[in-house]
Amino acid sequence: MQHPDPEILSLLALNEPLGDEQTMEHLRSCPECAAEYAALRRAVSAVRTTPDSSVLEPPGANVWTAIHRELGLSEAVARDPLTSAPAVTGTAEPAETAKPAAPVPSRTRSSNVTWLRRPMVWLAAAAALVVAAGIALSVGRPAPPLAEAELAPLAQYSATGSAKVTESRDGSRTIEVELNKTEAKGYQEVWLIAPDLSRLVSLGIMNSSSGRFEVPAGLDLSAYPIVDVSDEPLDGDPAHSSVSIVRGTLKL
Ligand SMILES: [Zn+2]
Repeated sequence: MQHPDPEILSLLALNEPLGDEQTMEHLRSCPECAAEYAALRRAVSAVRTTPDSSVLEPPGANVWTAIHRELGLSEAVARDPLTSAPAVTGTAEPAETAKPAAPVPSRTRSSNVTWLRRPMVWLAAAAALVVAAGIALSVGRPAPPLAEAELAPLAQYSATGSAKVTESRDGSRTIEVELNKTEAKGYQEVWLIAPDLSRLVSLGIMNSSSGRFEVPAGLDLSAYPIVDVSDEPLDGDPAHSSVSIVRGTLKL
């Protein structure tokens, strides 16, 4: 069998349009020349790869899957483009090793995947993911407090603390009370009280140094801005004992 001149193979590997039909036919049937051609092609694509992308670790298929899902891309590009693209580092080029196809100008062959091999494209995709993740986080993050109060001790107590009212997306409000210690001789009860102390609403019992309480729906906090934690004796009387441990006014 007459093998083509090695120089012809080299030029073919460089996509020079030198192959006549006879040479092409030979490449398809001669394993020796096919292997030679494939090796040359690998060398060519390795050289033509930009230095930047040749040192980049190719991302796993799951990365593409995540980008694809996050950006809502079409099914047509669902497959990880890097797995179908010619090997970047020249370690494998299965299609051409198995069966040498007629050389196709690299521009046409890889035009649909080349942009995906550029580092900038991956950076942009990564940036898009970061933005998407940021949006997801900000949606999941609780809203800033509606109101806050510093709780200061009343006579004969020394506990301090804070209260924070937050609103969830369904409009319900929660007040979070935190003290640095528990000082009740009986038990602690949390109240919202009117500025002139004439009216008050019990929010519930707080057995430890902190607690979360629902604010009654429709309750106007500006009419009951004082947060009060009382010391309640176990006397069965539901009214405020008139002994407050800490108190503070909500800044609305
Ligand atoms: Zn041959």
